[in-house]
Amino acid sequence: MSTSGMFADLPVDVGLAHEGERIRKPQMHIEFGGPNVKEKFELLRVKGPEEVEDGKITIVGPDVQGLEEGGSFPFGIYIEVSGEKLEVEMEGVMERRIHDFCNYIEGFMHLNQRDSIWLRLDKKAVKKGLNLEVTGKALQRLFKSEMAIIEKIQITFITDPKKVKKKFQEALEIYEGRDARARGMTDNDVDVFYGCTLCQSFAPSHICVISAQRYANCGAISWFDGRAASKVDPKGPVFEIPKEKCLDEWKGEYEGINKIVSEKSLGEINRVQLYTAFGYPHTSCGCFEITTFYVPECDGLGVVHRDFRGQTPSGLTFGAIADSTGGGRQVEGFHGISFEYMRSPKFLQVDGGWNRIIWLPTEVKEKLKEYIPAELYDKIATEADATDVTALKEFLREKRHPVVERWVETPPEAIEAPTLEVMPSTPSGGITIILKNAKIHAEKVIIKRAK
Ligand code: SF4
Repeated sequence: MSTSGMFADLPVDVGLAHEGERIRKPQMHIEFGGPNVKEKFELLRVKGPEEVEDGKITIVGPDVQGLEEGGSFPFGIYIEVSGEKLEVEMEGVMERRIHDFCNYIEGFMHLNQRDSIWLRLDKKAVKKGLNLEVTGKALQRLFKSEMAIIEKIQITFITDPKKVKKKFQEALEIYEGRDARARGMTDNDVDVFYGCTLCQSFAPSHICVISAQRYANCGAISWFDGRAASKVDPKGPVFEIPKEKCLDEWKGEYEGINKIVSEKSLGEINRVQLYTAFGYPHTSCGCFEITTFYVPECDGLGVVHRDFRGQTPSGLTFGAIADSTGGGRQVEGFHGISFEYMRSPKFLQVDGGWNRIIWLPTEVKEKLKEYIPAELYDKIATEADATDVTALKEFLREKRHPVVERWVETPPEAIEAPTLEVMPSTPSGGITIILKNAKIHAEKVIIKRAK
């Protein structure tokens, strides 16, 4: 993919080579969404052919050049598609592609998904002419070339804060409706799980295993979404995983999962147990909504989400924890997950489930209020109760959190902390090269130090 082909008329290049480009603040012209902005979303809907005008791009509010340089703005991307073979169930998976397609655009950085998107446009690219109109054209062409079943596509970008606010509420309701579909279903009700390798571009050994009771790490792909996507494109990045023999139902270990994970990670990961953060935890990519962090002094697990800006009681921020567990690794106790998985009855069941959660940000506590067992709600600390381990321990003891009972059996002093290797795993820097059974011909290989 390059400007020599279908993007030649655009002022910036579009292609895989730009995936992983990081735009730091000094290089940034403007940003949309991100941690400083509450209302931001991306939403894709399947519509009837009469409702979609192919190629139409609408910008509600000013385009990039009409916004103040250096600012952070509320933002919405609303994509409507139609096609004879399209099903509503495929919305989640197609919506997830906005992430990689935006990142193909030179000077455009897209992080995360749904209502946590964070987009940046680079100064040089904006000077060349990059704006939302151009972004829309690139996205339309990428969607249609990569997904032949899309016959028509129209895109609306919203930068008017009032209009973003209105549509944002609608988007939240649609996400909730999608997520709720798989609730109540159990792993025993289904014969197959689904896998996704979309994040392998930056986490080469990562495969998301989407069971009926464990949602994808990014929180954007459910079991139903997996089923719809794999039906249309069985050889695509979202595929079926036959369960095969169940090796341990409690831990969530299946022969079929181990085989596929081993094959798709080229032997890097050979065992996965879905319902634990220890032993053989599910791998963490980089776009998980939340991560757990083990606090050895309390023998409990803290939970922190992407938008939490402060330090956790362990002294680490979300970013530092994410860097130490992402990239497709299995790091005991440090485990990338989604909000929806925290609503599952199997949420970390092997480790004690909610009884093992000792700290989480107020925002997460509020959001999951109805899923936290009532008797535990006041016993789990937030940033208002404890900002360091000493205060956390005191809080847990005072509130008689169930984790305190573990301290009698094994005093926390006797627990060895798992090794935490801090290294950049997301496109922020560092390199991982895994080549196995590779036959490569290249005239030149250039390895550059990330700036
Ligand atoms: S987090 Fe998992 S499901 Fe989501 S895009 Fe990445 S690999 Fe796919």
